[in-house]
Amino acid sequence: MDMAQHLSETELSARILRHAVPKMSELNIPVTPNNYSVWYEYYLGINLDLKRAIDGLLANEVSFTATVCEGLFTTYIQQHSPEVVENVQIETQLLINQLLAKIAGMSHGNVKFSSSLKAFDKALKTNPSSEVLQQLVDDITTELDGIIDANIAMDQSLNTINQEVSALKSEMSELRSVVMTDQLTSLNNRRAFDEEVISHIDTFNQKEFESSLLVVDIDHFKKFNDVHGHLIGDKVLTYVAQALKQSVKGDDFVARYGGEEFVILLPNTGIDEAKIVANNLRQKIAKRNLTIGKEKKLPLGNITVSVGCASLKNEDSKDSYFIRADEALYRAKSAGRNCVMVESESN
Ligand code: GH3
Ligand code: MG
Ligand code: MG
Repeated sequence: MDMAQHLSETELSARILRHAVPKMSELNIPVTPNNYSVWYEYYLGINLDLKRAIDGLLANEVSFTATVCEGLFTTYIQQHSPEVVENVQIETQLLINQLLAKIAGMSHGNVKFSSSLKAFDKALKTNPSSEVLQQLVDDITTELDGIIDANIAMDQSLNTINQEVSALKSEMSELRSVVMTDQLTSLNNRRAFDEEVISHIDTFNQKEFESSLLVVDIDHFKKFNDVHGHLIGDKVLTYVAQALKQSVKGDDFVARYGGEEFVILLPNTGIDEAKIVANNLRQKIAKRNLTIGKEKKLPLGNITVSVGCASLKNEDSKDSYFIRADEALYRAKSAGRNCVMVESESN
């Protein structure tokens, strides 16, 4: 599809965004500036080599892994058209600049008008002849008409740009929430968690607050699926997600890390308190008798979870923090499951 015809740059960018962003999210491609410039260029349709390469990948159902995406970027964008990279990055900035320029133009018009008014006022005070007075009135009327026209035109283009900017903003934020949300449980997904932990560690290093991490894993879930089927398994995953979310405070960050494993980041929480939170949620899940069906409730029995806890240390990275909690989880599994373990003191 060739989108470059008959469209203003703003319209073109917005239109490409509307195609590229859903496609990227469908293909699970993170919307980084580099990846976005690949897909921007693809939908722009003028880089034929890139288009052929992507069409080939799509036709062969090749998965767009980080390596594949990086390859596309270096081969077809970075080496061929570095300006595209820059273009995409300044896209939104451009829109905003246009908006500001219009606003500046508008107030400039009004300044000019008010200086005409002053001149008019001054001329009146010199007792002008009726011819001169008539001329002044004509001039000011013409100018006023011009300003009204200009303002109507500016208003319209301001509105259009405003709509484009807010459409872009809401598409960006919608996209962000799609990309960061787990489809099944509606919890944050692993990508969201990774971002959160990184910024969390950043704040921690500046402010030295306490932080704890829980890794929660459903016990013998494979067996549960084997007995009840995957669909019921999925419902139970959603139930556990809700139970976890309801067991913690608003500031706490709950995410589905993958499969039947969840993570909870507890800011301002030391390890002892984290262990209490973990045990509360573990008990809450264990004592619930699960049923399925609205009228006729079929019993599914109980499920349990095991939890590993760690608290953040000065030298921690995202990975080292997670690994300590995960290692504690492993010990909870070895200890017989349905229990909470805390990172070992020696670590
Ligand atoms: P353990 O107590 O050691 O954690 O045993 P487990 O069976 O829970 O762990 P294992 O890692 O062996 O298996 C995890 C199972 O979780 C495999 C799969 O059946 C199930 N599972 C993972 N993701 C999903 C999902 O999205 N839906 C459903 N229904 N099941 C899932
Ligand atoms: Mg499990
Ligand atoms: Mg697991």
